[in-house]
Amino acid sequence: MKKDIVDLQDKLQALLLIQQDNYTQGKVADYIPALANVKPDLVGISVATIDGKVVGAGEYQRSFSIQSISKVFGLVMAMNRIGDSLWQRVRMEPSGQPFNSIIQLEWEKGIPRNPVINAGAILVSDVLTSHFSASKLAFITFVRKLAGNDNIRVDNDVYQSELTHGNGNAALAYLMKSFGNIEAEIPEVLSHYFTQCSIAMSCQQLAKSLLFLANKGVDPITQKTICTARDAHRVNAILSTSGMYDQSGEFAFSVGLPAKSGVGGGVIAVVPGYGVICTWSPPLNSFGNSVVGMNLVASVAEELGLSIYH
Ligand code: GLU
Repeated sequence: MKKDIVDLQDKLQALLLIQQDNYTQGKVADYIPALANVKPDLVGISVATIDGKVVGAGEYQRSFSIQSISKVFGLVMAMNRIGDSLWQRVRMEPSGQPFNSIIQLEWEKGIPRNPVINAGAILVSDVLTSHFSASKLAFITFVRKLAGNDNIRVDNDVYQSELTHGNGNAALAYLMKSFGNIEAEIPEVLSHYFTQCSIAMSCQQLAKSLLFLANKGVDPITQKTICTARDAHRVNAILSTSGMYDQSGEFAFSVGLPAKSGVGGGVIAVVPGYGVICTWSPPLNSFGNSVVGMNLVASVAEELGLSIYH
């Protein structure tokens, strides 16, 4: 039974307290040096519902690096722009590999397993770079509109840090290009990819901006169609099978919601027909998922009976 949103505010606060002993479990991502500067004990949670209510607890209004959560926005933009031809260049299967792995990409001839591992998101970045005259501006404008906030920005320190430590991502891009699966120039594609990963948003903004995925593609606040119901279904399906890196199976098994995490410590989870949960806590487990963030999503889903598999 889904509880009233007023009770939820108190519930979120209580859940944060329960997690207090875990706040520093895990390790803050440091392979992008700018991310290592974040205080590890910051924790936030927000829930936005399709009837227009937003609640939160802890640091839910503080911006953090959205990192791979940006892959969700990019995927929707690319689906809208080039339609089903996208699926000739990227697949929709779980990879069973770490998010930044290159091994599979070679034997699968430069076709990424799905759009939410790094190779797939770089491919999507190529689509955006090739099909928008100013893809970075188009991206941030899309996100600002969804969040209803024109102040959302790219964190330039994170961007520079990604650029100077992005050799692994460059290798993925060049390998795909060698198979003819990247159209634009690599530096341009990577610049787009690192820009979208470096956007800073709060839990509240993220939860609000992804409500259309819980509402068959329609933003419940503005009533604008962001994508078709079919594509909202497809994004949710991909997030269910691949959104939590190589821990997606376990997450489906224990929580049962389409979700996406980022190495900045954010997790978003879509509850079709209800709303979006967003959590943030920087320390990550060995898969790259926020330890406390996952626990919090799991607790909310359990408390409110939100699993899509019920
Ligand atoms: N910018 C990060 C990278 O490319 C994103 C990774 C993530 O959040 O999963 O490594």
